Parts: sequence; structure tokens; C-alpha cells
Amino acid sequence: MQMIKEEFDAIVIGAGMSGNAAAYTMASDGLKVLQLERGEYPGSKNVQGAIMYANMLEKIVPDFRDDAPLERHLVEQRLWVMDETSHTGIHYRSDDFNEVKPNRYTIIRAQFDKWFSRRVRGAGATVLCETTVTELVRDAKGKVIGVRTDRAGGAIYADVVVLAEGVCGLLGTRGGLRKMLKPEAVALAVKEMHFLPEEVIEQRFGVKGSEGCVIEAIGTISHGMAGLGFLYTNKESISLGIGCLVSDFAAKMESPYALLDALKNHPSIRPLIAGSEVKEYAAHLIPEGGYKAIPQLFGDGWVVVGDAAQLNNAVHREGSNLAMTSGRIAAEAIIQVKRRNDPMTKRNLALYKTMLDKSFVVKDLRKYKDMPALLHTNARNFFTTYPLLMSQAAQNFMRVDGTPKIEKEKATTAAFIKARSRLGLVSDAIRLALAWR
Ligand SMILES: Cc1cc2nc3c(=O)[nH]c(=O)nc-3n(C[C@H](O)[C@H](O)[C@H](O)COP(=O)(O)OP(=O)(O)OC[C@H]3O[C@@H](n4cnc5c(N)ncnc54)[C@H](O)[C@@H]3O)c2cc1C
Repeated sequence: MQMIKEEFDAIVIGAGMSGNAAAYTMASDGLKVLQLERGEYPGSKNVQGAIMYANMLEKIVPDFRDDAPLERHLVEQRLWVMDETSHTGIHYRSDDFNEVKPNRYTIIRAQFDKWFSRRVRGAGATVLCETTVTELVRDAKGKVIGVRTDRAGGAIYADVVVLAEGVCGLLGTRGGLRKMLKPEAVALAVKEMHFLPEEVIEQRFGVKGSEGCVIEAIGTISHGMAGLGFLYTNKESISLGIGCLVSDFAAKMESPYALLDALKNHPSIRPLIAGSEVKEYAAHLIPEGGYKAIPQLFGDGWVVVGDAAQLNNAVHREGSNLAMTSGRIAAEAIIQVKRRNDPMTKRNLALYKTMLDKSFVVKDLRKYKDMPALLHTNARNFFTTYPLLMSQAAQNFMRVDGTPKIEKEKATTAAFIKARSRLGLVSDAIRLALAWR
């Protein structure tokens, strides 16, 4: 394949959510953009549960509903707390979500990223797949001025490089732009796609047409580790998975596959996937360090966006919307610097951070800045002890066996105190409230 000789306004590394948002925004504004993706096609390396948040995509591609491969729009969300045999849950469903422009959709990334990439090309960017960026090129003063790839032909130059390389961010780390990922700041998620006829999915989840349902679950399913199970309905498949912190997997010597198997065989999940055919299996990392894990976001000749910048809201399980928004905002900042004919220096690219700080991305992450540490250091309590207590309390309440209600209430209170002590309960509640506010 031919190597590219010309110089670009911007090079975008990666064709995931953040890279596509950045490349599309800059190319639509007339910038000369080169996007490099190591995968065989955009999306081939990407894994997502996956919920896509329409509002954030609409700000980038307003007419996306015309041709984007959307699976189901979500009308129902279930949050489950599970033990070995049961689940306790809250459940929100509203017909209001059957709106003309639905708010959240399930997507399959392999298809969605391909679509987004077609739009990026349509906007005028040059997109090269099967091209791994191996190195950032710097000038004598250390400013990033381009990249080298695994193709023959030497360096490719640009005024600015957008690192949208995803959670591992190897280029940024190797290039000294950020530190290595810490195992307690990243989760490993494993996921399977279970194929079922459309009508079976509709019947099992009580949805019709393009309506969809999501189940997210915590509890003994994560074996005392900080983790989450998830089930998302697509048109003709169900995405089922579970993820826990890498540090917890290592400390407990647990296998992610064993957790997923146990989840599939849980009595609350098994009937939902019964008879399905598993066609795809994937494992991927998710940044979970939150606000405190955000690295330096800009420098001389470079900005970093999306998962590579650790912009992931683990509390609300949102990643793609933060990725798209950071990609768009970085692109808008670059466009402004370019319009002023200013150089892409650290000082000028600081505009990206100023704009991002004002967005929901940083505001949300800042709000939950203490949450990752709290959940990590108290995983056993929040992911095993309390789920078990809640389940026992629910069963005690539901089971009618002639025990007077007052005795049932006393037994439930005693169980909570025995498990955590009065001081422990108050302290857990206060710490959770403080981390949440
Ligand atoms: C199991 C799972 C479920 C999830 N569920 C949800 C969900 O329901 N909703 C949600 O909003 N988020 C979800 N997320 C998070 C979401 O997937 C990410 O936040 C999002 O994909 C980040 O986008 P990105 O563009 O920053 O990174 P990515 O999507 O990872 O894209 C990075 C791209 O860069 C390419 N690349 C990397 N290095 C190089 C290189 N050197 N040269 C060239 N190309 C390179 C990769 O091949 C890849 O295509 C989930 C994540 C996982 C793992």
C-alpha cells in the first residue's frame, strides 16, 4: 500500500467513538484530516455492551438516525442486586422513551463504528485502516509533529495529533505523555453475544418493535470484587457480560470466564438466554479510575481524548458519550486555534481542557471523584455483604410463615448490625453519601 507524503492539519489515532467524533468534526469544518486505525476495519477491535447516548452523537452528526445501525431504543432499565439464587431490584420503564428521537439505543460496535467511519470519510477525512501508529514524531524542542506507522515510507506530519487510541493508550505512555495504567484504575470486562429470534427477545423482556431493555447487576456475582454484570437487548441478540477491576482479579486469582459462566447460570439470567446461540466472545479493558486518573490532556502538538484520557463514568456506566464529547470538544478547540492562525502549542491547546472542564464530562467525573477509591477499598462490603443482607431482608419480608412482622423486622435489623456493627453501618452510609454528592 502507498505511503502518504503530504502534510495534514490533524492526524487522529484510532477510529473508535472518540477518534471518529474528532475526525468528523474537524473534517466537516474543512480541516485536512488523516485518521489511522490499526484494525482491519473501524470497530473490528472495539467492544461495547453497548448503550449509545443519542444526545452526544446528535451534537456531532445531527441526522445520524437516517442511516446509523441502531439496534433497539431503551424503554426500560433494571438495576439488580444479586445473590446466588435471587435478585432484588429497581426497575424503571416509561412510554415517554418511545419518543420520536429516542434518548438511548443499543448498538453493536463492529457495525456502528463502520457506519461512523463512512460518515468521517464522507466529511472529507482520509481514513487508513490496518495501519498501526508505532511512534509519535517530535521536533528538536519536543513538540509532537507527526507519527510513524508500521507501514513503510517514513513519518507523516501534521500540525496536531489527536490520541484517540483507547484505554491502553500505549503510544501516550511510551511517548511519555502519561503514566502506565494502574491495575486498580482499570476493569477487565468479558462479554458474549447470545443470538435469539427477535420475537423471543420481545417476549422475554416484555418489549415490542424496536423497544429494548437493559439489566445491570451487582452482588455476589463478582465474588467480592468491585464489578458489574450487564445484559443489553439488541434486535436479534443479547450482549451479556461482567467486568471487575484488574487489581481484584489479580489479587483473588479469579478467572473472568468463570465469573461469566456463573452469571450465565444464575437462575435469574439463565431463562433469559435459554436456547441462544453464542456467536461472539470478547474481552476488553474499561477505564475506572475516574477524575483522579485523568492524565495531562494536551501538550505541544497533541491532545488526548476518550478512553485514552480515562474519561469514563463508571458510576453511571457511561463511556461512549464521554468519548464522543471529548473528541468533539478537542476538535472544536483545534478548529478555533487554527482559525486564529495560531500554532498548536501547549499554551493554545489548553483551550481543549478549558472547554472540557465546562462540559458534563469533567463535571460528572469530578462529582464522583472519591467513588472509585471507596468502592475499591470496600468491595467486599458493597458487592457481597450488603447484597446478601438485602436479599435476606427481602426474602424474610416476602415469606409468609406465621412469624410476627415485628420479629421479622428485628431479625433483619439484627442481621445488618451483626454483619457491619452500628458504627460500621453509619460510617458506610456517610462515606457513600460523601462520595456520591
Ligand atoms: C464490555 C464493555 C461494555 C461497555 N459498555 C458501554 C456502554 O454500554 N455504554 C457506553 O457508553 N460505554 C460502554 N463501554 C465503554 C466504551 O466502549 C468506551 O468508553 C469507548 O469505546 C471509548 O471510545 P474510544 O474511541 O476512546 O476508544 P475505543 O473505542 O477503544 O477506540 C480506540 C481505537 O484506537 C485504535 N488504536 C489503538 N491503538 C492504535 C494505534 N497505535 N494505531 C492505530 N489505531 C490504534 C483501536 O483499534 C480502536 O479502534 C463499554 C466498554 C466495554 C469494554
